[in-house]
Amino acid sequence: MNSYDAVVIGGGPAGMTAALYLLRAGVKTAMIEKLSPGGQVLMTSEIENYPGFPGGLQGWELADKFSAQLDEYPLGRIYDEVRSIEVGESLHAISVGEEIVHAKTIILATGSRYRKLGVPGEERLLGRGVSYCALCDGNFFRDRDVAVIGGGNSALEEALYLARLVNKVYLIHRRDEFRGLVCYQDKCFNHDKIEIIRSTVVDEIQGAEDVESLALRNVATDETSTLKVDASFIFVGFEPIMDFVPEEIGKDRNGIITDVEMRTNVPGVFAAGDIRSKMCRQVASAVGDGATAATAAFTYLEQLDG
Ligand SMILES: Cc1cc2nc3c(=O)[nH]c(=O)nc-3n(C[C@H](O)[C@H](O)[C@H](O)COP(=O)(O)OP(=O)(O)OC[C@H]3O[C@@H](n4cnc5c(N)ncnc54)[C@H](O)[C@@H]3O)c2cc1C
Repeated sequence: MNSYDAVVIGGGPAGMTAALYLLRAGVKTAMIEKLSPGGQVLMTSEIENYPGFPGGLQGWELADKFSAQLDEYPLGRIYDEVRSIEVGESLHAISVGEEIVHAKTIILATGSRYRKLGVPGEERLLGRGVSYCALCDGNFFRDRDVAVIGGGNSALEEALYLARLVNKVYLIHRRDEFRGLVCYQDKCFNHDKIEIIRSTVVDEIQGAEDVESLALRNVATDETSTLKVDASFIFVGFEPIMDFVPEEIGKDRNGIITDVEMRTNVPGVFAAGDIRSKMCRQVASAVGDGATAATAAFTYLEQLDG
């Protein structure tokens, strides 16, 4: 039987930190990751706000460093998708791929995924100019005109990244004010390749085979227009990944509900990182959550085993 004292679900910054802390405490631990370790960090071009790296570093570099540190310990690495969890009194059953893995304690760290815009053309033209990852797809649009939709940090960061590759970036935001950090706003507003379009929503993404244009509407004046672009990069927020989380674990629309020790309402089940219902979704906060969850899980195991 595949059985561990602790199983961490998700190999992003939160999950990898939780695994590191558990392993260093001598806990028999497995980490289940459906893709490769790194999570959203692998979709990030440059990370400038993770402490300890003046001047910043590439997302993949940070993901590699997190993962390499785990190689020093006997971590059970399982590369497959968790489909469901059956919570028990002192042993939980995790359905992963075709197998069942048992764990005395679980740390949920499956992060979040992009939110869709929900307009006509978005699904149909996905991969044909509609993208949610500038790092993955930006290169296909070298020297062409693209739109970035959104007003938060991700939208601003990705507009700046794309501006290095493409001819022109139209940064379209439904509000007048941007939510992203002032330092990113300043860089975007002063960039000669970035044109800001405020108070405007995208009603449709248009094109026969590939993205050709966007149908825009100014929300202040109701005026409509068409903007010719070759791609549309959408960054309108994230939603926690918790489809596999059973009903008895408390959640709201923003994620899993925990206390300050990352405990859920089910004994032995913890949550860390972007999957939690919280405000700050960043690498530094995910790492902090992971360390806290692992420490609380260790204490739980000590009490369980007497
Ligand atoms: C474009 C972009 C730019 C960003 N820029 C920055 C930045 O500059 N600075 C910063 O601090 N933060 C940035 N962030 C946010 C930061 O990356 C996240 O807050 C952080 O990665 C969250 O870590 P996490 O471990 O909670 O989740 P994630 O990084 O999302 O990792 C979750 C992992 O769980 C795995 N998983 C999901 N479901 C399952 C399942 N059912 N079974 C098994 N595995 C599963 C996923 O494959 C993933 O690897 C950015 C995010 C994006 C998308």
